[in-house]
Amino acid sequence: MIYDVIIVGSGPAGLSAAIYAMRAQLSVLVLEKEYMSGGQMLNTYEVDNYPGLPGIGGFELGLKFREHAEKLGVKFITIEVKHIEQEQEGRVKVLYTNREEFRTRTVVLAMGARHRTLGVPGESELAGMGVSYCATCDGAFFKERTVAVVGGGDVAVEDALFLARGCEKVYLIHRRDELRAAKLLQEQLKKCSNVEMIWDTEVEEIRGEDHVECLKLRNKKTGAERILILDGVFIAAGTIPNTGIVTKMLHLDKNGYIPAAEDGITEIPGIYAAGDIRTKQLRQIVTAVSDGANAISSVEAYLNNEI
Ligand code: NAP
Repeated sequence: MIYDVIIVGSGPAGLSAAIYAMRAQLSVLVLEKEYMSGGQMLNTYEVDNYPGLPGIGGFELGLKFREHAEKLGVKFITIEVKHIEQEQEGRVKVLYTNREEFRTRTVVLAMGARHRTLGVPGESELAGMGVSYCATCDGAFFKERTVAVVGGGDVAVEDALFLARGCEKVYLIHRRDELRAAKLLQEQLKKCSNVEMIWDTEVEEIRGEDHVECLKLRNKKTGAERILILDGVFIAAGTIPNTGIVTKMLHLDKNGYIPAAEDGITEIPGIYAAGDIRTKQLRQIVTAVSDGANAISSVEAYLNNEI
């Protein structure tokens, strides 16, 4: 069988694409690596910025998206795609997995991205219990509390600025003595009286019983140890896009994302990128969902022109 569209990934972008593809009466298949749909949403304790569903659990929202897609008849297969090729004759794309091959006229790449972790003791144990990778998602839970942001890029500084509006105190912990964030952001940061920089410092441990209580820090230049008491820590050490299966067929931008605008169109006709995997300003559930819908609109236009 040759599908109209195969969607790789079942986070919010992939599930939204699947829903739009079914409603467009396309033959669609979703290939998902994990047994659970939802992607990064599954690790989000509470989602407070998805319109209409304030405070919904990330896990629950993932289930709702999946149920919606299943209700429309979307077929899911749990399988790991290894690589994708275009057949020499015609424009059919072949997806190779560890078990079988799938043929399709179009592909929506929605494999998402993962946050870079610090890899220190306490980080995974306290994830969602004061350790967060998304200030705009979780910042509101730390109103009038003390938090730290770890990182020195645009996201770290934007997170610190965002958190400074509601938190009593924000520490920005960076492993070097200068930020890589845009100068304009750095200027804004200097104006925040409740943000304190901690330079040349690495987090060695995140401690707490059932919630973050303190960080064990080490100054890289002096070797001095410091215990920082706080309520939460936001890790902004960059993200890693899950582009492994397409590195041989598509050029990526300098950060490893697939260059594509809102329409999801990539350099290969019939292959689209949606969600966190593409170059974009804001990586959120709401923007991923939008990408899924837009990618299917592009798929429809492509298939209509092909006939
Ligand atoms: P980024 O620019 O890669 O910065 C990651 C930061 O985390 C760096 O400061 C890095 O330190 C630090 N870091 C990495 N691994 C670490 C570790 N193990 N321990 C401690 N610190 C660690 O990532 P980003 O801030 O997520 O931004 C990603 C891309 O999106 C960038 O190109 C950025 O410009 C872009 N962006 C743009 C905007 C905007 O234009 N408004 C907004 C957001 C993001 P070092 O500096 O020492 O390497």
